[in-house]
Amino acid sequence: MRPQADTVDELMARLRAKGQRATSARRAVLAEIVAAGSVHLTAEDLARRIAAQHPDTHLSTIYRTLEALTQAGILSVARFRDEPTTYHLTDDVHHHAVCSTCGATIDLPPSVLDPLCRQLLDDHGFVANPHHLTIGGTCARCAAEA
Ligand SMILES: [Zn+2]
Ligand SMILES: [Zn+2]
Repeated sequence: MRPQADTVDELMARLRAKGQRATSARRAVLAEIVAAGSVHLTAEDLARRIAAQHPDTHLSTIYRTLEALTQAGILSVARFRDEPTTYHLTDDVHHHAVCSTCGATIDLPPSVLDPLCRQLLDDHGFVANPHHLTIGGTCARCAAEA
């Protein structure tokens, strides 16, 4: 599910429902992540974007905010190879095919794993809950150059 329907207000309400404070830094971080859509932002990316509107927000505040939002289950962490940690909405279930040669990334809908999940359930009784999977390989351009 892509996050369009997930307004920042709704996410903030969910944060309060979990007994977490709805600070302006938390709102600013969530607003940037919702606006970024399928692009995953690092803490530094977020700090740069937020500093444009709130120059007094320190990187350490961004890190603490990301930590709190991740613990509350609103954000999830995604890592690509050896790149810095990025963050996305937990509701935004999707997967990526990543070229191990050039790093090109293809966004995949959650349904691509439906056959695998069904097979795991049928054959093993295993209820798979893949939330953010990265599939390595070679993109068409790199394959053509090889
Ligand atoms: Zn992703
Ligand atoms: Zn490639």
